[in-house]
Amino acid sequence: FDMFVLAFVERLFRPTFRKDDFVVGKKLGEGSFGVVYKVSLSKKRSNEEGEFVLKKATEYGAVEIWMNERVRRACGNSCADFVYGFLDKSSKKGPEYWLLWKYEGESTLAGLMQSKEFPYNVETIILGKVQDLPKGLERENKIIQTIMRQLLFALDGLHSTGIIHRDVKPQNIIFSEGSRSFKIIDLGAAADLRVGINYIPKEFLLDPRYAAPEQYIMSTQTPSAPSAPVAAALSPVLWQMNLPDRFDIYSIGLIFLQMAFPSLRSDSNLIQFNRQLKRCDYDLTAWRKLVEPRASADLRRGFELVDLDGGIGWELLTSMVRYKARQRISAKAALAHPYFDRQGLLALSVMQ
Ligand code: ADP
Ligand code: MG
Repeated sequence: FDMFVLAFVERLFRPTFRKDDFVVGKKLGEGSFGVVYKVSLSKKRSNEEGEFVLKKATEYGAVEIWMNERVRRACGNSCADFVYGFLDKSSKKGPEYWLLWKYEGESTLAGLMQSKEFPYNVETIILGKVQDLPKGLERENKIIQTIMRQLLFALDGLHSTGIIHRDVKPQNIIFSEGSRSFKIIDLGAAADLRVGINYIPKEFLLDPRYAAPEQYIMSTQTPSAPSAPVAAALSPVLWQMNLPDRFDIYSIGLIFLQMAFPSLRSDSNLIQFNRQLKRCDYDLTAWRKLVEPRASADLRRGFELVDLDGGIGWELLTSMVRYKARQRISAKAALAHPYFDRQGLLALSVMQ
């Protein structure tokens, strides 16, 4: 009851928006369920400030609004700041959902990882200055550790709220210039198990590059969505049985791998890696045995990085990228992993 009153009051005092409050700018992206633009406020609201991101979404927009409202109340720091969502019936193309977020900045992890400067470009934006230090594996490991901690922190927030993202990938991770940290975006494929909303629509296509091997997040023994009250009562049990959150952990593990191994950052090499790993029955250690003897200098450098400090990075990596969901580490447990005992970038202690 309190939750609903709070949500209602909070909603009352937040600014609301309408279509003609915005001037639509540059297109930022286009998915299968909507188009994303950068927008600014129009003249009639020129006394207010800020840049925004607008997603015009089709029928799934309603669920995405719901997810964003829930995330904002329960774990606001995990995701981009959601501002407002409404249904626009005036479009000639038929009803469209408008979703608005604060514009967090221009850098996604995907963009940053594509640069030759990675991970030093991330060090610069996190610290807000260029460090005049010699480059090398140790420093790169520190930066990657800091990124991983931020990603796991955000993911733990979602999972503790009962939300699985299901589309964790570098394109859906944005660097928030305001908080100088990475946030997760795009809840368009997310599922909320505690309330049974968007309960694994079977037609949903997962991104094959980052998806865990299990086809559906829940085991086939829980065939259909229970009604909301039943789901609310059952879901902690279902959660324990099926560990759906470990789907996201697999994706985060692949991102860790890509950050450590420059040669796996391109799409084509990631796809090739996925094929190799599948042939090794998703056993990373077997994959390592397969490729290490004839590894390129680039690949060897990746192994060197994860082998630092007695191989603690490799240990964490192999506890995330595993075939069986229940053998994968949780986000919370990963944050307590000895890989994070060493100090990352200085900014970290200031931020969290
Ligand atoms: P899609 O359904 O098209 O994948 P996303 O929510 O992932 O939609 O957004 C598409 C792109 O728009 C992102 O990859 C990112 O570049 C940009 N973007 C989304 N939200 C924000 C935000 N809050 N701030 C800045 N850029 C954003
Ligand atoms: Mg996206």
